[in-house]
Amino acid sequence: MALDTAAVVAELRETFASGKTKSYEWRVSQFKAIVKLTDEHEKDIIEALRSDLNKPEHEAFVHEISGVKSSAKLAMKELRRWMTPEKAKTSLTTFPSSAEIVSEPLGVILVISTWNYPFLLSFEAVIGAIAAGNTVVLKPSEIAPAMSSLFSKLLGEYMDSSAVKVVEGAVPETTALLEQKWDKIIYTGSCKVGRIVAAAAAKHLTPVILELGGKCPVIVDTNINLKVAARRLISGKWGCNSGQTCVSPDYIITTKEFAPKLVDALARELEKFYGKEPLKSPDLSRIVNSSHFNRLTQLMDDKKVSGKIVHGGQRDKSNLKIAPTILLDVPADSLIMNEEIFGPLLPIITVDKVDEGFNVIKAREKPLAAYLFTNDKMLKEEFIGSVSAGGLSINETTLHCTILTLPFGGVGESGMGSYHGKYSFDAFSHKKPVLQRSFAGETAARYPPYTPEKLRFLKAFLAGDILGIFRALFGW
Ligand code: NAD
Repeated sequence: MALDTAAVVAELRETFASGKTKSYEWRVSQFKAIVKLTDEHEKDIIEALRSDLNKPEHEAFVHEISGVKSSAKLAMKELRRWMTPEKAKTSLTTFPSSAEIVSEPLGVILVISTWNYPFLLSFEAVIGAIAAGNTVVLKPSEIAPAMSSLFSKLLGEYMDSSAVKVVEGAVPETTALLEQKWDKIIYTGSCKVGRIVAAAAAKHLTPVILELGGKCPVIVDTNINLKVAARRLISGKWGCNSGQTCVSPDYIITTKEFAPKLVDALARELEKFYGKEPLKSPDLSRIVNSSHFNRLTQLMDDKKVSGKIVHGGQRDKSNLKIAPTILLDVPADSLIMNEEIFGPLLPIITVDKVDEGFNVIKAREKPLAAYLFTNDKMLKEEFIGSVSAGGLSINETTLHCTILTLPFGGVGESGMGSYHGKYSFDAFSHKKPVLQRSFAGETAARYPPYTPEKLRFLKAFLAGDILGIFRALFGW
């Protein structure tokens, strides 16, 4: 039977109109349901992530399960404060008066989620939508089918199904959902589909948050603790879903002289972490499907870079696994340097001086994240001041996204809008300004008939010119 998306939206609008989702108690009840669902089905969640991505339990727990619980618990703890209207200063124009900003829910939210962190990123958006008091449709990614069907089963059981719905499906279902009028859409995925989402939303003037990707660069200086840097690079690249992470390091820039040392350090630590036969390591996720596997092997087999592999390169097509692979001195016009890698391949490009790396980054689209490893204060300052990216980390990779007091989102081609923690609440709220006055504070100069005296008075009044006010009032 064809999906009746109009009926889904109509039911959610009705629920929203009832006012139920606006209450503090309802919002908290849904966060509690999310925590309960996560606790009671931890094993099922881990199994679904194993089935979709062969995600190691360690990563499933640390990156997804605990991330969802932290977000739900933070929302529970902070919601009253977030919902409290914010006092605003007023001006002389309205004296005497008071003003505040009231956060009101937008209505019905569509979450089109992704497959690489399917549990975390779906719930992260749903938690934001609920925190702000909205109803919501979650469209999980069909590319992670086990998690999609787990969502469909569990959300109905644990959450208020008159306000939170799951619609499973692929392109036809997403297309049908996009035909409806929503109050906000959040999409996580590629720029290509991001454009389709934005175009569909424009028809209804629906605002969108686009959480996209891009090539996240890392500049590695020479004066660093090489062992710690290598471990953190590995953790952000291969320890994050085998590089299938929007903020994973995509390529490294370092000096010609330092590159061999960096390659040796990475190779040494990689062997400690994943053994001599990484394809057999249980601690590496697999590639999500054969089309992404083929895409990645094409990047490695491009004749411009196939001779540049200095570590790894092994692949196992039947199990969709690719070993951690490092490529040195790849040319700028190679395939691997012209699309987001989103997998376990890490090219290194070399420069004469480390600060030339800034121009390499600035010559490209603004990335979702950029990283710098250095002990040099001036270099850090230049990095923060001159590199535009969704977010930056210095001497670390990916972890800035886990800090819920920081906004997470892209800039330019890496996305628009941001969320996480209070930023999610704000992203799904309308910030409604409210001015309140009594009947005091009348000024005749405001009203017609307009006269030169009234105008003179108002000019002096708005400029805070006391003498001018007296002149205008008393004709001095
Ligand atoms: P994708 O962009 O192809 O998205 C797949 C989703 O879009 C599916 O749910 C599918 O149903 C829908 N879709 C595909 N074609 C469509 C069409 N023509 N019309 C309507 N809907 C359509 O997935 P992908 O390319 O595998 O995702 C990887 C990208 O996502 C990377 O660029 C990565 O950086 C990005 N990403 C970003 C974040 C973030 O938080 N910023 C997180 C994860 C992934």
